[in-house]
Amino acid sequence: MSAYAFELKLVCGGFAYFSTLTMGSKPGDGGLEVRTPSCVDRERFATALADIGLGYTYVHDDQSFYDWTCIQGWAIADLDFARQHMSHWLKKRECLISPYGSYTDMSIASDSIRKRTFRGKFKKRILDRDNNKCVLCPRTDQLTLQHVRPYSGGGETSFRNLVTLCEPCNQNMGAESYRFLYDLAGLRSSYEPSMLRSAQFTKNAMIRAVQLSSNIMHTRCELY
Ligand SMILES: [Zn+2]
Repeated sequence: MSAYAFELKLVCGGFAYFSTLTMGSKPGDGGLEVRTPSCVDRERFATALADIGLGYTYVHDDQSFYDWTCIQGWAIADLDFARQHMSHWLKKRECLISPYGSYTDMSIASDSIRKRTFRGKFKKRILDRDNNKCVLCPRTDQLTLQHVRPYSGGGETSFRNLVTLCEPCNQNMGAESYRFLYDLAGLRSSYEPSMLRSAQFTKNAMIRAVQLSSNIMHTRCELY
């Protein structure tokens, strides 16, 4: 049975901040991906949540919707109810991409994550994390930062999407996605950390967390 899935994270100032599953996409005008919430199979999605140790609220009428906004966490929303009463939760959004393929709605992204350039303090934090050394070669001079998901393809300018490269190594990299750089920098949690906060780190849970993370979109809408 088809449904929509939402993880409500915060209700604040009349807005609901939430994550939802989005599959498939198309590039928008500015090169950013446009994502839309996807339907999920209710039973299969409930099983996926159980694998990572999470329950959910079944949202199918006004009362269960209201209950969920108080409880928060995951909801599996009845398809007809969502289409009729939650249409503003289902809008298309232009998104930035994290290195492991989760999406952030541009409208909730900070200025700094959207810019190509970064401040010196921020650069220093990443250089320190990477031991002030190129992640590809032994050089410790002429260090620059490289986006793992390229900026031109909507990659975010964030701690998790930048790695340290020396100028010569950087020159050799084109504008592709370089997930291996992410691994080289030791950023090995290839899923949204919040996915496994309440689960045992079993192999099954890890696989589920990676699967869900890679198609999660973070966004917000007006609550009612
Ligand atoms: Zn190098």
